[in-house]
Amino acid sequence: MIIECSYCESKVDGVLKGEHESYDPNEDPFPFKAVLLQCPVCNNSLLGGAELIQISSDKHEWSDAFRLWPKQDSHIDWSIPDIARNSLTEARLCYKARAYSASVVMSGRTLEAVCKHHNTSSRTLAKGLEELKSKGVIDERLYQWSDELRKHRNIGAHASDEKISKEDAKDLLDFAEAICEYVFVLSEKFNQFMARKPAKI
Ligand SMILES: [Zn+2]
Repeated sequence: MIIECSYCESKVDGVLKGEHESYDPNEDPFPFKAVLLQCPVCNNSLLGGAELIQISSDKHEWSDAFRLWPKQDSHIDWSIPDIARNSLTEARLCYKARAYSASVVMSGRTLEAVCKHHNTSSRTLAKGLEELKSKGVIDERLYQWSDELRKHRNIGAHASDEKISKEDAKDLLDFAEAICEYVFVLSEKFNQFMARKPAKI
């Protein structure tokens, strides 16, 4: 059964060790299957869930297992442009590899990508963020998060005695993700929502 192994970080054909099907007709008419799988590559234990999906008028099939444990990373929305997605993905990878300074540097690069995407004219990130705020791309709170991220990125990027802690790296990564979510995903959603809205409301 295909599942993504948290250790190998790739899709593997998990060896089925146990499964259980259940369903609640009041909640959801389709059964759910919990599976315990073993990664054939690294021997990791993986707990997954699968749903029965309809593939034709009279045929059903189990979906690939989505991982329930170890918890799967939430995916990075596809509407975030590549320039920012790539840095965010690397920031996550560095964090997982416990390279906290590198993670913060990549989170900071995500902000540079937001500036680039919005064609800010300033050469420095500090000024670029101010420009994003004055253009209304980010509000005061997101500006504060971004500015903290920028300062920590500078600590991460230059050789010094100051160390970035795990907690700080995680918070700064969360800020970078939230900023992208706001700037690229929610703003676009809101624009589309407003465009659909009848004029009289
Ligand atoms: Zn594995």
